[in-house]
Amino acid sequence: MRQLTYVAPRQVQWRDVPAAALQGDGEALVRPLAVTRCDLDIAIVTGATGWPGPFALGHEAAGVVTAVGDGVRLFRPGDRVIVPFQISCGTCAPCRAGLTGNCATVPFRSSYGMAPLSGVEHGGALSDLMRVPFADHMLVAQPDELDAPAAAGIADNVSDGFRSVAAHLAARPGARVLVVGGRGQGVGLYAAQAARALAMADVVYLDDDPARLAIARTLDITVVERQAGTDKAPGAPFDLTIDASGTPDGLALAIRATAHGGICHRTYGDVRPLTEVPLRDMYGIGLSLHLSRVHARSVMPAVIAHVRRGTLRPQAVITRWVSFADAADAIFDPTVKLAFVNEDA
Ligand SMILES: [Zn+2]
Ligand SMILES: [Zn+2]
Repeated sequence: MRQLTYVAPRQVQWRDVPAAALQGDGEALVRPLAVTRCDLDIAIVTGATGWPGPFALGHEAAGVVTAVGDGVRLFRPGDRVIVPFQISCGTCAPCRAGLTGNCATVPFRSSYGMAPLSGVEHGGALSDLMRVPFADHMLVAQPDELDAPAAAGIADNVSDGFRSVAAHLAARPGARVLVVGGRGQGVGLYAAQAARALAMADVVYLDDDPARLAIARTLDITVVERQAGTDKAPGAPFDLTIDASGTPDGLALAIRATAHGGICHRTYGDVRPLTEVPLRDMYGIGLSLHLSRVHARSVMPAVIAHVRRGTLRPQAVITRWVSFADAADAIFDPTVKLAFVNEDA
């Protein structure tokens, strides 16, 4: 089968690899119909992560089930599904606690499209077939309200943006929210969209990128056009700040914009361990800084409930649609959110 493969910095190729096949009773095969580019994929394909190739690419997929093992009860061939990017079993202690990104049954950080994270090649979404273990637990039915390109991002970035505000807002109803946009392009905008859906008070999105600002202006939130430098924060302090900037300056701005006793949620770690944390400011504010990987499978049902209500519209963030055939070139496009459509499927 075809598989888009990361070879080396700025070298991405379609390669022929052995076709994915069922390896157990509880597994399913899924043909991706659409794949969206995760914010991290740009760092991967340009070599910024430093991960050694070759490995399969793509980890936000919506597709159709083509085969199931005898033990699969909830899905059958022809079903439209979303495949969460992390592999999880659903039955171990971390999975039962909702920490599906920490599944203890598979090697830590097991994911599609990012083999160096776990050391295990689970395949990628930019391919003809994906093998899905623990299919009854892993697979999530694609909501009828979305087409495959709109649904694919729920596998990772949409859910990541949602959870970066959801739990914090549940604990603090009425919180004012600031999102500092930037390199975490999709996640920042999805966080702003989720904050609009969940917050009972102001949501402010700050960025200096015209394309991201244009999307933010469609989200019924307050948009501030400003570089995420060490400028003064926009307006009164915020109970919850989200740093999706990817820069030390953006994090510093988010922290200094946080109200006394507030929370700053950074949407990612560092590709390289460079970011200084202003502990003196944090101490004075009494600020909680929150960072973690998303536990995608656990978050997806809440995201889909909002999609059904119309309060989350993942398609609002997609800026370009291309065919799988163009993926090896298009994956480098700096556009905000790229959707790859499998026209052979
Ligand atoms: Zn990702
Ligand atoms: Zn597990």
